[in-house]
Amino acid sequence: MEKLDILSLYPDELAAEIEALGEKKFRAAQIFNWLHVKRAVSFEEMTNISLSLRTKLDDRFYINRLNVAKTLESSIDNTVKYLYELSDGNHVECVLMDYKHGNSLCISTQVGCKMGCQFCASTIAGFKRNLEPSEMLSEIYEAERSSGRKVESLVLMGIGEPLDNFDNVVRFLKLLSCPEGKNLSLRHVSLSTCGLVDRIYKLAELKLGLTLSVSLHAADDKRRSEIMPVNNSYNIEKLLKACRDYIASTGRRISFEYAVIRGVNDSKADADKLIGLLKGMNCHVNLIPVNEIKERDFKSDRRSVLNFQHMLENGGLNVTVRRTLGSDINAACGQLRREYEI
Ligand code: SAH
Repeated sequence: MEKLDILSLYPDELAAEIEALGEKKFRAAQIFNWLHVKRAVSFEEMTNISLSLRTKLDDRFYINRLNVAKTLESSIDNTVKYLYELSDGNHVECVLMDYKHGNSLCISTQVGCKMGCQFCASTIAGFKRNLEPSEMLSEIYEAERSSGRKVESLVLMGIGEPLDNFDNVVRFLKLLSCPEGKNLSLRHVSLSTCGLVDRIYKLAELKLGLTLSVSLHAADDKRRSEIMPVNNSYNIEKLLKACRDYIASTGRRISFEYAVIRGVNDSKADADKLIGLLKGMNCHVNLIPVNEIKERDFKSDRRSVLNFQHMLENGGLNVTVRRTLGSDINAACGQLRREYEI
């Protein structure tokens, strides 16, 4: 029989498995605690479990681990970037950031990405596979172990499109917020999508309480399709309709991400179109100075970002500019893995 990925099981599923092994149900709670609270990486460590049960566990389950292949620590702002090697030899990365309100971790949800956004390093080598719930949890557990810091908020903005790995991401989020586990409130989680409209509707139905970020990056279909191929399937009108539905059904404000690219999407006309699209919506715009990646010729500068911010604010939008953290270690996701996997 194929072994089960024990870290991806909900408490009640684990309990059913443990009972099927002829053991008492309360053992499952102990094992779940070893995995998700004490962070055991082997069954051997589970010292309040009998040797015979540990042997049975080893036969029935595996603990999906990842290893730190490389750590980059910023010398300017406490940002740490981890390159992880997965059990099959693939790599993903995550970034630990030190914000005023605590430590925030940016995690990957897929190995590579299918979405093809022009400015993004994660998509260049294509898509390999989805991450399992256990692997997304391990990104957090390993960052906490390695850094000795507690992750207090989470952003799903690393490599991959979270809504393209919908079921695993939802299972991961439910495990993450499980009171018997890390118990992180999903109020402290932001999920970023390039705009998979049918999945935004599906996510709204689940009412998870997380913050939805939508990568908009252009205010008209022609430009957006040029830089984000997903716009050919779900154009701006369809996307914003789904966003309005999301806000209405969850009561949560949406954050629109907009990477300011000099000469591409930062003109007065762009600002006016964006104001026309978003005015009156319960949302805010997060401007990101585009991170330059060596494979592409997209540029940004502080002045044009601030200029664009003022134009939007004058039009009545709520705007923030994303702080640049870890600029000395190429902290933007996708960049380290690119150097590692040719
Ligand atoms: N697939 C998801 C999440 C991953 S990327 C999404 O598209 O939202 C997280 C954010 O970083 C997205 O807004 C993405 O568009 C943006 N991003 C990617 N590459 C970038 C770059 N070179 N400069 C600035 N932002 C970038």
